[in-house]
Amino acid sequence: MKNLLWMVLIFLVVGCSSDSSKKASQPLIMTTTGMIADLVQNIAGPDYVVKGLMGPGVDPHLFKASQGDIQNLASADIIFYNGLHLEGKMTEILEKMSASKQVVAVSSEINPARLIPLQGASSAYDPHIWFNVELWRQTIPVIQEALAESFPKDHASFEKNAAKMDSLYADLHQWVIEQVASVPETQRKLITAHDAFGYFGKAYDIEVYGLQGISTVAEYGVNDINRMVDLILDTRIRAVFVETSVPQRSIEAVVAGVRARGGTVNIGGTLYSDALGGPDSGADTYIDMVRHNVQTIVKALK
Ligand SMILES: [Zn+2]
Repeated sequence: MKNLLWMVLIFLVVGCSSDSSKKASQPLIMTTTGMIADLVQNIAGPDYVVKGLMGPGVDPHLFKASQGDIQNLASADIIFYNGLHLEGKMTEILEKMSASKQVVAVSSEINPARLIPLQGASSAYDPHIWFNVELWRQTIPVIQEALAESFPKDHASFEKNAAKMDSLYADLHQWVIEQVASVPETQRKLITAHDAFGYFGKAYDIEVYGLQGISTVAEYGVNDINRMVDLILDTRIRAVFVETSVPQRSIEAVVAGVRARGGTVNIGGTLYSDALGGPDSGADTYIDMVRHNVQTIVKALK
């Protein structure tokens, strides 16, 4: 009996130490947004540690890396970011990191013809590509290939996981088409706090208007609010939406403006535009985020 106890103890000690040494040498993958972290984790698999810098409610347009973030990025084996200037304040740090490791823009292989150009710019594009599921699907091979380059021993498992995600996203895209099509065409108008939904509108045939521009860096003014109030009164739009990564007061000002002029409009719900939701939000994965947004929009506009 005493011998057995010793054997168990030795087993535990040996087991623990080999486990912790494995953890120390475990590769670290860093991403900017949660949408990218979710997809990279799914392709890399459970043996890889994937950390997103931008948690729930964090606005990527305004995000500045802290000292701790920079340390994490510096110790990462590979870094994935959106690109197309979504992470406008991280350009310099990402450039610096690319001197010593693989730093990959997941949007890099998307045909520019599929991108929405920014007004007055010839080679600058709307970065919110995850709103068109079919476009976001095109980031899968970019991630898969970059992972295989950094960790060649697991290339077969990356390939298998990527194929699975590709099929899930293909199904999700079809589901969004069907859901939005169930809203009568004249009611397919979406007003949000900032212009994040351009790709969504284009892909799923819904008119979109944002109170603020493509980036939240530019401030909105009284004129923007009045323009939105006019639009709502003219077109009898039923609902406007708040976004988790943008302060609510802008949309609340629009609702108050409509009511002051005798109109009615409601807040149709909260959308996850530029960040995933927290662990209990029902929107903590990309697929759940899309499902939550589409269900919220369809319910409010129908
Ligand atoms: Zn945005």
